[in-house]
Amino acid sequence: MSVEYHRQHPIPAPTVHPDNQGFWEGVNRGELVIQRCRNCGAWAHPPRPMCPGCRSLEREWARSQGKGIVVSFVTYREASHPGFRVPYSVVLVELEEGVRLVSNLVGVQPEEIRIGMPVEVVFDRISEEIVLPKFRKAD
Ligand code: ZN
Repeated sequence: MSVEYHRQHPIPAPTVHPDNQGFWEGVNRGELVIQRCRNCGAWAHPPRPMCPGCRSLEREWARSQGKGIVVSFVTYREASHPGFRVPYSVVLVELEEGVRLVSNLVGVQPEEIRIGMPVEVVFDRISEEIVLPKFRKAD
């Protein structure tokens, strides 16, 4: 949806804090970056202070290819917020790096969505300050 639409119908903004700041900075540059452990190489999302694998506090931001598959989804036909235009689909995407993200699937009719559908990230600027990572159907 357009910046103009969201100017008239603002949606709740993501909450940026020290653990996820790198993620949102990446999204604002048009890059999907995921937290990766500097000690064991494990990917983690959502970002967190400690590696879920080895408990190291040494983290870095690594670029994801932005490709994955739909592992779950739901389609909303009633808006839960006045800024959300229905119908819209919320998907759980498993990236090739092995982590899962909650996002929106765009450019696909709800009836076309399938578990296992290949998807790729796109970046949707919804205001001067906010860019959201979303997904579209991939080949
Ligand atoms: Zn680790």
